[in-house]
Formats: sequence, structure tokens, C-alpha cells
Amino acid sequence: MDCIFCKIAAGEIPSKKLYEDDAVLAFADIEPKAPVHVLVIPKQHLPSAAAVTAETADVVGHIYTVIASLCAENGWNSYRVVTNVGPDAGQTVPHLHFHILAGRTLGEMG
Ligand code: 5GP
Ligand code: ZN
Repeated sequence: MDCIFCKIAAGEIPSKKLYEDDAVLAFADIEPKAPVHVLVIPKQHLPSAAAVTAETADVVGHIYTVIASLCAENGWNSYRVVTNVGPDAGQTVPHLHFHILAGRTLGEMG
């Protein structure tokens, strides 16, 4: 599949990895929008959070455990987790990903 995040998960495109296991990868965003900007993805291709079902919900729960430990280990104790669904929300890569943003005052959403 021609998906940039599948290629990153497979190691075909290099990334700055912060965490990896069989199901999940966390890596630095190439165009950081905050001093800390990490992307956490399932290695399995899911197009967005809108595609999560009972069958795939486990990996989302696992991603949140990875986010909690990664942030705790790095001392990021105030952060925002965002997942965009669809172009109006700003989704540019159609592979489910969670942004972790930290290191500055993030302001209101919108
Ligand atoms: P979205 O806009 O879909 O919510 O988020 C996609 C994110 O992926 C953007 O923040 C963008 O900077 C990041 N991104 C796009 N291509 C690459 C890449 O090749 N490597 C890395 N590390 N990040 C990427
Ligand atoms: Zn993919």
C-alpha cells in the first residue's frame, strides 16, 4: 500500500523513533508544531479514528498506554493528544495517528 506511515512503520522510510513494539510506533513529527511533537501510530493500517471498530479498539487502548508511559518517562507532564479525522479537521496522512504536543502553552482548541 502506498501509505507513508505504513512505510515508516516498516522502516522503509527513516524516522526518529521514540518507542516501538509489535503493534505501535512513536516517532518525531518531521514538521514540529511544538517543542515536543510526537506521532503515535498503529503499525496496522487504519485510515483514521473513524475506522476504529470493536475488532481494532485494542490497539487504540494500547496506544494510550504508550502515550502515558512515553510522556511520564520524558517528564512531559502537561500535553495534548490530538487525532484529526478528515481534511476539514486537518488530516493530511490517511493512516491513524495521535499527535502528542507539549513544551509550550498550547492555547484553546479551534
Ligand atoms: P495530520 O495533519 O494528518 O493530522 O498529521 C500528519 C503529520 O505527519 C503532520 O504533522 C506532518 O508534519 C507529519 N508528517 C508527514 N510526513 C511525515 C514524514 O515523512 N515523517 C514524519 N516524521 N512526519 C511526517
Ligand atoms: Zn498506512
